[in-house]
Amino acid sequence: MGKTKHGGPIRLPKTPKPGLWVSPVPLGLGKVKPHHIMDTFRTVWRNRDNLPYAWRILTQGVCDGCALGVSGLRDRTLTGPHLCTTRLNLLRLNTAPAIPDDVLSADIDELRRMNSAELRELGRLPCPMIRERGERRFRRVSWDEAMNRIAAKFRSIDPKQAAFYLTARGLTNETYYMAAKTARFLGTNHIDNASRICHSPSKTALKRSIGIGASSCSYTDWIGTDVLVFWGSVAANNQPVSTKYMYAAKRQGTKIIVINPYREPALDGYWIPSIPESALFGTKLADDWYQVNIGGDIDFVNGVMKHWFEMERREPGSALDLAFISKHVNGLEELRAHVAGLDWDDIERGSGLSRERIAEFAELLARAKSGVFVWSMGLTQHRFGTDNVTQVVNLALLRGFLGRAKCGLMPIRGHSGVQGSSEMGADPFSLPGGDFDPETIARIEKLWGFEIPKWQGDIVGVTLENALLPDDHERRLRLFYTSGGNFLETMPNPDRIRRSLENIELRVHQDIILNTSMLADAREAVILLPAKTRYEQEGGGTSTSTERMVYFSPEIRGPRIGEAREEWRIFLDLARRVKPEEAARTMKAESADEIRAEIALAAPNYDGIQHLREQGDFFQWGGAWLCEGGVCPTPDGRGRLIPIASPGIRRSAGAFMATTRRGKQFNSMVYGSADPFNGALREDVLMHPEDAAELGIADGEAVVVHNRFGRFYGRLKTAPVARGNLELFWPEGNVLFPSGVYEPHAGIPEYNTEVKVEKADVFYARKDRKYRTKEADAPEEDGLPAGAAGAGAQPCRTE
Ligand code: SF4
Repeated sequence: MGKTKHGGPIRLPKTPKPGLWVSPVPLGLGKVKPHHIMDTFRTVWRNRDNLPYAWRILTQGVCDGCALGVSGLRDRTLTGPHLCTTRLNLLRLNTAPAIPDDVLSADIDELRRMNSAELRELGRLPCPMIRERGERRFRRVSWDEAMNRIAAKFRSIDPKQAAFYLTARGLTNETYYMAAKTARFLGTNHIDNASRICHSPSKTALKRSIGIGASSCSYTDWIGTDVLVFWGSVAANNQPVSTKYMYAAKRQGTKIIVINPYREPALDGYWIPSIPESALFGTKLADDWYQVNIGGDIDFVNGVMKHWFEMERREPGSALDLAFISKHVNGLEELRAHVAGLDWDDIERGSGLSRERIAEFAELLARAKSGVFVWSMGLTQHRFGTDNVTQVVNLALLRGFLGRAKCGLMPIRGHSGVQGSSEMGADPFSLPGGDFDPETIARIEKLWGFEIPKWQGDIVGVTLENALLPDDHERRLRLFYTSGGNFLETMPNPDRIRRSLENIELRVHQDIILNTSMLADAREAVILLPAKTRYEQEGGGTSTSTERMVYFSPEIRGPRIGEAREEWRIFLDLARRVKPEEAARTMKAESADEIRAEIALAAPNYDGIQHLREQGDFFQWGGAWLCEGGVCPTPDGRGRLIPIASPGIRRSAGAFMATTRRGKQFNSMVYGSADPFNGALREDVLMHPEDAAELGIADGEAVVVHNRFGRFYGRLKTAPVARGNLELFWPEGNVLFPSGVYEPHAGIPEYNTEVKVEKADVFYARKDRKYRTKEADAPEEDGLPAGAAGAGAQPCRTE
């Protein structure tokens, strides 16, 4: 942990810099780009019934959007306002009225005809509801009836047959902590959270290399670093205000490099609304692009290191920070030997980049005195995600870009709550303040006053598979309690996920709105529990940003929805109903303040959280830099270089590697059918123009993308994607991914796959673009099992 404190916000220069403009034509006229002013007016209109409350949320609350982190309209990176359209889009979740009774208890098929965006528009879930097997409608029940039913189920099963899951939808640290404690109190370690499908490999890789599980630096380190690298990350789209930090960085001479298969337009140029010259003329962000193959990052980094070791042979010290390595890093010789044995042809084939281009990047980093690496799901969502991230850490260790100003490693998070989820113990491999190891278990048992089960809990993907185990299996999932989460729209192979959800005896969905997963049947019953948003919670709540800033979000005066309750309170209630006597002794926290006091004891890094109680209160755990001065929290204080072998992806003739990307959406919540940055519709398949020409498919023509896992029906859109690769929108592309394929260290599902692409024979679209379907013989496919076609085989609904 570092001793240096964050230096506070930086001031932007006042004079413009035309050299950074995208175009001298004002407002990007004629260009495909977001229309922030229109989006803002749209938000005002959508929240017109609750505008004062909406304003108070924006000016007093901590953003429930991405994990960049902002309290009110101010952050800790730059002076000036901090607001984006993602936050504005999410506002309606907080200001919407309750779903009318008749809609909530409509025939289940009527609700099932709606997609998640339409369900979201219905409003807030106001009261507990139940739908027994065979019933056509949800029926209102009292909190007592709902909670007693869940408690009775808990008492009737082996705790290994119950599991919890928590999304990151604005959840607070207090909720994660209470869920983590409740799960263990009830005897189960099956508890997981949304980071399992985003950054679990980041935490795993950082831990094994340098002993930390979070960003080592702050956003202020971007500003003025020599090289800022975005790796499989489109921060401009997913963390929009990060573009303002990029602008500030460029004003101090930072070079921005993007490593991504697709030349994402949002990182090419962005019109930053709160910076007048940028709002008018745009800002060029990326200085250079390395369009690696999907799954080619390990080869790419091996190439960079191979070039560095060759430079070192010619002139020691010309590429590596030898002083830093000798003082702080182990494993140099093993890594050198591993890289020496690699063949440049293999590196070029795997990465999709030439030796010369790899050398350019290597030399740029070798010349840099400082560097920050930022990454996202482009690196993590692979069956070798931990190894991908390890390679980035290897680069930082070899160059000494760690534990000092303008240097660092940053897994940038997409959801406001997710950084705190594992730190609070809502994870099968974690407890508050530590890993699920004997030492931490003993420490937490002493604090909590009850015995924690010692068996290893399952990750959420395996939990869902456990629902399909034989009835007499000791881990067959019989009770699934999920706070948020829509697995039908986030996990690979939605058909299989549906079968899992339907095979669980009792499913509990604690949430603020309806989603499609809640409408699936269950063997016995589905219970819906209405939750309060973070802004409604008595005593407020805290959330932790990517840069480890723990912000306090106060309870905000405004309307309250029906019988909705604080989420931490619901978990506490459950614990007390299942084991009342033991809970009276051990589950005593009665308020958000008391929970924060307990967190400070349970998670030593969070000492300070107990003092947060007013709007604007915050602290950064770990100081400005983790591993300050190069000293890592590992047993010997040193970082570890780890040789990583190429995944050796071999493509069949004529096949493409496919991955997913995000458009106008916030995680799985889609807000528009067209991507404002490139105009692509959600059924569009992005492909390099020369690949399209070789296939004889023109822009806009209907295509079928298929493999042995499923089929996706869409339209071809040519775009600057690396050759041999293609991109589809997430989650629509999930029909093509295998289920049950997890990264071995962190358990993230595989979201990349080999596919073939064919022109569709018959494809039509209604003019309103609402329904699209394809009527043609099934494409040739080896071994495609009957029914293996995913949702894409059905008429595919788009917003
Ligand atoms: S960039 Fe992220 S934290 Fe900032 S306002 Fe937008 S959604 Fe919220």
